[in-house]
Amino acid sequence: MAKWVYSFGNGKAEGRADMRNLLGGKGANLAEMSNLGLPVPPGFTITTEVCTTFYENDRKYPSELDDQVAAALKRIEEITGRKFGDPKTPLLVSVRSGARASMPGMMDTVLNLGLNDRTVEGLAAETGDPRFAYDSYRRFIQMYGDVVLGIDHHHFEDILEQHKTECGVTLDTELTAANLKALVAAYKKKVRDDLGRDFPTEVNEQLWGAVGAVFGSWMNQRAITYRRLHGIPEDWGTAVNVQAMVFGNMGDDCATGVAFTRDPSTGENVFYGEYLVNAQGEDVVAGIRTPQHLTIKGKQANKSKLPAMEETMPETFKQLLAIRDKLEAHYRDMQDIEFTVQRGKLYMLQTRNGKRTAAAALKIAVEMVRDGLIDESEAVRRIEPQALDQLLHPTLDPKAPRDRLARGLPASPGAASGTVVFSADEAEVLAAKGEAVILVRVETSPEDIHGMHAARGILTTRGGMTSHAAVVARGMGRPCVSGAGEIRIDYQAKTMSVRNRVLKAGEQLTLDGSTGEVFAGEVPTVQPELSGDFALLMTWADKFRQIGVWANAETPLDARTAKRFGAEGIGLSRTEHMFFDPQRITAVREMIMAEDVPGREKALAKLLPMQRQDFIELFSIMEGLPVTIRLLDPPLHEFLPHAEAEMQQIATETGKDLAAVRARAARLREVNPMLGHRGCRLAVTYPEIYEMQARAIFEAAIAVHKETGRQVVPEVMIPLITGRAELKLMQKLVEDVAKAVREETGADVEYRLGTMIELPRACLRAGEIAEIAEFFSFGTNDLTQTTYGLSRDDAGNFLDEYEKKKIIPRDPFVSIDEVGVGELMKIATERGRSTRPELKLGICGEHGGDPASVRFCAMIGLDYVSCSPYRVPIARLAAAQAALQVPEYAAAVTKGRAKRPSDDRHKRVLIAAGRRSAASRISGGVAHGRPQLAARSGMAVSPVTVAPKKVSTAKKARRAPPKTGPKKGPKGGGGKSRGRRKK
Ligand code: ADP
Ligand code: MG
Ligand code: MG
Repeated sequence: MAKWVYSFGNGKAEGRADMRNLLGGKGANLAEMSNLGLPVPPGFTITTEVCTTFYENDRKYPSELDDQVAAALKRIEEITGRKFGDPKTPLLVSVRSGARASMPGMMDTVLNLGLNDRTVEGLAAETGDPRFAYDSYRRFIQMYGDVVLGIDHHHFEDILEQHKTECGVTLDTELTAANLKALVAAYKKKVRDDLGRDFPTEVNEQLWGAVGAVFGSWMNQRAITYRRLHGIPEDWGTAVNVQAMVFGNMGDDCATGVAFTRDPSTGENVFYGEYLVNAQGEDVVAGIRTPQHLTIKGKQANKSKLPAMEETMPETFKQLLAIRDKLEAHYRDMQDIEFTVQRGKLYMLQTRNGKRTAAAALKIAVEMVRDGLIDESEAVRRIEPQALDQLLHPTLDPKAPRDRLARGLPASPGAASGTVVFSADEAEVLAAKGEAVILVRVETSPEDIHGMHAARGILTTRGGMTSHAAVVARGMGRPCVSGAGEIRIDYQAKTMSVRNRVLKAGEQLTLDGSTGEVFAGEVPTVQPELSGDFALLMTWADKFRQIGVWANAETPLDARTAKRFGAEGIGLSRTEHMFFDPQRITAVREMIMAEDVPGREKALAKLLPMQRQDFIELFSIMEGLPVTIRLLDPPLHEFLPHAEAEMQQIATETGKDLAAVRARAARLREVNPMLGHRGCRLAVTYPEIYEMQARAIFEAAIAVHKETGRQVVPEVMIPLITGRAELKLMQKLVEDVAKAVREETGADVEYRLGTMIELPRACLRAGEIAEIAEFFSFGTNDLTQTTYGLSRDDAGNFLDEYEKKKIIPRDPFVSIDEVGVGELMKIATERGRSTRPELKLGICGEHGGDPASVRFCAMIGLDYVSCSPYRVPIARLAAAQAALQVPEYAAAVTKGRAKRPSDDRHKRVLIAAGRRSAASRISGGVAHGRPQLAARSGMAVSPVTVAPKKVSTAKKARRAPPKTGPKKGPKGGGGKSRGRRKK
């Protein structure tokens, strides 16, 4: 018989932490904590398989479920000595959802289930506290009414407020038992009025109603949106946890709280959390009352006047501290815990790996390695590459003038400026228009997720460090200031005010999520510091990764940034960006508008010194690292003069009349420029352009050599090649220039010639293209456009719909379409390498900085990825994680035993630049081990049928499987990992 229900409690459990797929995260960890002997109220978990079965079978439960739930409930009754529905000692339970991946706030919990008019009396008599009993009862009706019966909780809040007014009190806690009893009656009337039937009094009906609501909530809009944003598959399902209630609301020796075992903002190893005395469930995170700090240190740091738990409940606090240590040692990761204290006794209600900022993730990982809890590879695996983005982004310029409006809590670090909006929908609309927005709310709820996602930063006036806004913002990497209580928001008037200042929607606001400060206007920012833990983690990543990381850069600033971030070369320098400079564009236009060769040459002569200077700067900055220069690529069309004034300027410069200029411009206009006269096609008709560029490159290389004594070997890259004949022509063109420069200068001009692979035809003809090209660089932006027949500039209008309707799994311009575009890349890789085994392969499309695409590139055996400078660290980490996906492979790599053809020159340069680990990677790399990696890792790369590869003997030798055990003795040093040892 299938097992649908797993029990826990009383020091043991049927489940374990590693069963999260079946039990959900919450259920699996409740089981694990029970097994660890921690005080967990007993309960059971209904598995995620019940959820999937439920949806597969027209919302029907498996037939055995009833009996299994009854048996599990009985077990709780035995442990607690209470009975479900019993009028004397009633068992109350909570019904809690829990998916595999934590989905904060997405699913609703029902507490105090099992109360009705009879059991409430039993509870009152037993505890001697009718007030508590009726307070629990009214909370139950409210939660159940909202979550299960679908009556919005605002209605209940309204009734509550009305009652308070009638009773002449301001706080909930001032209501007497009799007041609460009347409130219960009013709540029940509301249910009857709205639904035309009574609130369910039978406890089993209550239980199944709540279970059904949890499963039902898996398909509600909030959950669907969250899943879409976080890539959680629908068929994972959620589990349901039913657990005996414990009460934090029985008096002043009771409390409820949440904590992180380390500071989730900074990662500092301090216990960090909040609690509320005499409260239940979500009171702490709902921002209803101001929570108190757990530790005295926390209280002081936050300048709170309320006493810490360390002071009010020192004994219980000590127990909690011990549990903190136990959980961290056991899970070897920072935990996010929920607990309740009932009459001085501590109960654990939840633990999970805590969400954290990138800075905290780094610090925690590095410190855990230092403390021996985890190893370096685990640390590398733990940091989500995308999250590094948070660290690479600017913070407020400390010297910039600022106009501080208010201060709230530093809920999620980073600085952001933008236009003030007061609703999530507005945030989404404005952000879609490309505007930076700051979402300002009293507090946020799951309905606001889309707006939080669209916003650059989030400000709330209510709620603590564990409020919805804070938790979600940290997860999304958005700066957030929460609980800025001085600010008043008027949603109607769309204004926010502090003291006598008023800011309207549409005005600029700046947040500093690291300090909690809020500023009027826009405050300038500065670049982040990249030393310390960050640098250390990056050196670990570099040890594991097998694929090089280069950058796309053309300006000196980009090149310097790239180098600072650890780029090992420039994979794409787009020369056209240099042409758009206002001082140059006129000369460029003259060149284009010239009707004949002499006219063009005259204009090009003006450009030559400027281009040469560009390359001199790049070569100097990169200090001998490879620099790949792509010759002019965009359609001429883009350079055409449009405005009358521009035409006039050209007419004057060239001494032509305006009508002639206008006519020439009209002739050059294209219907479909992206597929028109661009790339190497330009040089087929106007070879002078590429000749000038080649000359500029070679002369620059010579100049830098003379100046620094460092030989520069530029990589000249031809765009938009479709086949061999075209490239052959370009090769001759470039070589002729090289020859001429050699003759003129007597200098030694060395270079490499390669090509972009960005058209499907080039992928198919890669075998013959590689006869000429010494390197390929996949231009996956164009390759995606041309493979899909889809213009990237226009796709934005409808690709969303494709994702929603699941026609495509994700935007192919963000993450490589592995089975289509990726297949072409594999074909090109295999065909290219079979012609030229030492062919160097890279990617320079924007995909080069996307972690999933980096992984794909590593798997198909590219030598390097090239991405924008800011994404270099992300790519380094993603590449390391790709290599670590297959453990035994990673082990071989760590020992430097996997091999790939060496590129001695590049290695020498890296060593000279102090980049030993990168250099050893070149000699210890594994171009030809990597296809096996793809096979073993079971990646979704469909097989490509190509002619069997001709393997040269030299290559076979390289492919030989690694020998076991590190080699010692005199011969050992020869073949591997040179350079790392000698310091
Ligand atoms: P979420 O997934 O939103 O965190 P939980 O299932 O953890 O929801 O429930 C929210 C809160 O309800 C918990 O943090 C805890 O304070 C309270 N709670 C849940 N189950 C119990 C219980 N058995 N006894 C007491 N409080 C409970
Ligand atoms: Mg919740
Ligand atoms: Mg919880």
